[in-house]
Amino acid sequence: MSVGGGHVVEDRIPLCEPRLGRRERALVRECVADGWVSSAGPFVGRFEEAVADYLGRRYAVACVNGTAALHTALRAAGVGTGDAVIVPALTFAATANAVCHAGAVPIFMDVTPDLWQLDVEKTAEFLRRECVRRRGGVVHRADGRRIKAVIPVHLMGHPVDMDPLCGLAERYGVTVIEDAAEALGAMDRGRRVGALGAAACLSFNGNKIITCGGGGMVATDDADLAGRVRHLMTQARRDPIEGVHDEVGYNYRLTGLQAALGLAQMERLEDHVTRKRRIADRYRRGLGGVPGLDLPREAPWARSTFWLFTILVDPVRFGMDSRRLLRRLAAEGIETRPLWRPLPGLAPFRDFPAYRVETAWDLHRRGLSLPSSVGLTAGVQERVIAAVLAAGGRR
Ligand SMILES: *Cc1c(COP(=O)(O)O)cnc(C)c1O
Repeated sequence: MSVGGGHVVEDRIPLCEPRLGRRERALVRECVADGWVSSAGPFVGRFEEAVADYLGRRYAVACVNGTAALHTALRAAGVGTGDAVIVPALTFAATANAVCHAGAVPIFMDVTPDLWQLDVEKTAEFLRRECVRRRGGVVHRADGRRIKAVIPVHLMGHPVDMDPLCGLAERYGVTVIEDAAEALGAMDRGRRVGALGAAACLSFNGNKIITCGGGGMVATDDADLAGRVRHLMTQARRDPIEGVHDEVGYNYRLTGLQAALGLAQMERLEDHVTRKRRIADRYRRGLGGVPGLDLPREAPWARSTFWLFTILVDPVRFGMDSRRLLRRLAAEGIETRPLWRPLPGLAPFRDFPAYRVETAWDLHRRGLSLPSSVGLTAGVQERVIAAVLAAGGRR
């Protein structure tokens, strides 16, 4: 069964909607019957354990959303005022917002043209040319800020090439915090994405691979880091009876109701990844070889979740640009979305440093994400494929 937001229009094909069923109903009902709907009670711990087990991580701390996960992971890793954090220019604004919430400044880095992920070579070049090593760390020469962390975002569910990135980060004393919001279920050389950085942040928003309605998690093997994350998320409360709080914390914990939903969804995770990959295969068969369309790649060492199947449209060779294609498909009830506007082009981030951001802009201009709900049937997907082919004059 599929539950869309609000009013359901028969022929509308949404970009990405959740898939919920009997198991979700059963666990949420159990949670309500128990009365443990708040963050206390068994469901939050059970959900954390399920995710930690899946990732092979020692600790996982659940919270209200992926942005809160990033914010607290950064703070727990010691990122604060006066620091800088390297962030890909092409990502959801939440990644950079979290850096700003932590009091630090993002440094925007370009992505690669083949896999659209954080460009590790440009990052190395930036560290070599524009930074100096100081006090066991590395400092951006232009503003004297210490670069404390880098956030590889596994964009669209394809893993960032983590070995060279982690090697580089280690040489410079920079902490790696994965943004795996789109990539739960992805693999890098047989290792799970979300198990590769000092900490990893997940999202269980309604459009992600599994959902709690809203939710997030920080996963790590570091007991201190996990403890600090949990502490910050629960108002930094040291002594609940005497009401002792030892720093400024947040009310970020996930509720039992949401965790019950998440726990049921965890049972579906592998099936959802399989479904996303099947959707990608069908798009590849239907749209492969069409002049002017570039389809997303998967590195030989990677397993992508293909969170949103995203094509690149060449306006000359295809016959129309990505935005005209978007409007044309919208007229037929097919929801699509451009790739994010590179963050240095947004008002709140305009004054922050950006290093040689070029590819991100090209991808933004050409990129269009096609309907990718895990519940998308072959028949409905054929409608999308046929509409794209017709738009390009190839029926
Ligand atoms: C969804 C997402 C987030 C934020 O997650 P929320 O749960 O919506 O706060 C962060 N980063 C990326 C790359 C995302 O796609």
